[in-house]
Amino acid sequence: MYKFHWVPANSARHASTDRRPEGALVYPSGTAVTTLCGEVDQVADNSELAWLWATCPECYQAALRIARAADG
Ligand SMILES: [Zn+2]
Repeated sequence: MYKFHWVPANSARHASTDRRPEGALVYPSGTAVTTLCGEVDQVADNSELAWLWATCPECYQAALRIARAADG
């Protein structure tokens, strides 16, 4: 498992390394998250439509670096 999670917030699909609530597979809607592109207090939106938002390019690049580092 990588140390980041995707989270739709503010009209884009971002990634975050924030801890999720115990047992939660996603950040519940309304959760304030800090994203890999450096935005703080983004509000997670778990609606079905939100998951169709475009991926934030900065978060994508940061997630790629984390994934590559984890894979060695
Ligand atoms: Zn982002």
